[in-house]
Amino acid sequence: MRRLDVAAITDQGRVRKRNEDALYAGEAVFAVADGMGGHLAGDVASATALLPIEALDGRVFPDAARTREALLDAILAANSAVVTKAAEQPDLRGMGTTLTAIILEGRRLHVGHVGDSRAYLVRDGALTQLTSDHTLVAQLVEEGQLTAEQAAYHPQRSIVTRAIGVDPNLAVDTLTIDLLDGDQILLCSDGLTGPVSDVEILGVLTGEAPADEAVQQLVDTANARGGPDNITVVLVRFIAEDVAASTNGEGGPTVIRPDRGGDTGEHWAAAIRRLGALGHAGDAEEDDERPTGRWQRGVAIVAVLVALVAGTWFGGRWLLSRSFFVGIDGDQVAVYHGVPASVGPVELFWVAEPSDVTVEEIADWYVVELRDGVAAADLADARQIIRSAPRDETEAAEGAGEAGRE
Ligand code: CA
Repeated sequence: MRRLDVAAITDQGRVRKRNEDALYAGEAVFAVADGMGGHLAGDVASATALLPIEALDGRVFPDAARTREALLDAILAANSAVVTKAAEQPDLRGMGTTLTAIILEGRRLHVGHVGDSRAYLVRDGALTQLTSDHTLVAQLVEEGQLTAEQAAYHPQRSIVTRAIGVDPNLAVDTLTIDLLDGDQILLCSDGLTGPVSDVEILGVLTGEAPADEAVQQLVDTANARGGPDNITVVLVRFIAEDVAASTNGEGGPTVIRPDRGGDTGEHWAAAIRRLGALGHAGDAEEDDERPTGRWQRGVAIVAVLVALVAGTWFGGRWLLSRSFFVGIDGDQVAVYHGVPASVGPVELFWVAEPSDVTVEEIADWYVVELRDGVAAADLADARQIIRSAPRDETEAAEGAGEAGRE
């Protein structure tokens, strides 16, 4: 018999008005999805994506290869479901979600992953991140353009390069390892890993706390740091697998075949080299310019070109291929084109259309969201977001409303 100790929590955090994360913790299948999208679509995306994953639980597969294939198929089905739903329902356009899912097959652990949620392995007092973050800054770290430390605090760290629901042709990372007795698997959304460091996570997981207390401690720590995002944590402690049949449990983890899910990263890396060089050639500055200035311009060029040409980027809450958002321009709410980010001195956004709605008319909590930018599927969606933006009910706003409208 397999013995697991499982605990899971999803928490709204202290800033967001909704919880767009979702989780599944079943018998042998576990998953975290971090939804994102204009309007209220993020939670629809994450919940939709989990359905095919949940359907895996309880099924029996003849061998490891087919188990992993089933996990991959479920993630592709999740992608199709979100893509289809977003296409059919105008108020869900532009939604997407991360998805990090695992299936336990005896002692084997299969991981499938898209986005910037994470799966960690804790073994022998060490924490190993099993998944790669599909983010702009992770790409830059791989390229040697940023250190891991710089990436952890980078203002654009939430720009995601792959997500469920964006593109019918999805690249999925998969990984298979053999677990040892005492191993712990942690699945989590970036609402945990943003505010809480790997060292702190390891400290909690290797402490005395039982699983349910450990996950609560992790959530509490993120909230103590301000809880800036939804926080989701799934902890699976692999106590023992007594059945000797499945696989040999001796030695270190057996990495059967990590699959980076296509070559998006390599294409991106090649593109930044090529286009970064092009951008530099068109520039007056010479080679003794600080290297950071060069790559920043390169990134800006690549970001725009990739957004327009490839259309496969999903930035934070930003779908660059349909890159509209609603933000604030001075005292007015406005529709922007691009993404609410800057790379060095280069802003990746511009006003597409002003509106006659002033900041004073809008509810304070929504002004905070507008300052970060609210993603829109297209111009019509952006106009709808402005029309339906929660209004401030206070007297001051009523005065402004009377003066400013009608
Ligand atoms: Ca998140």
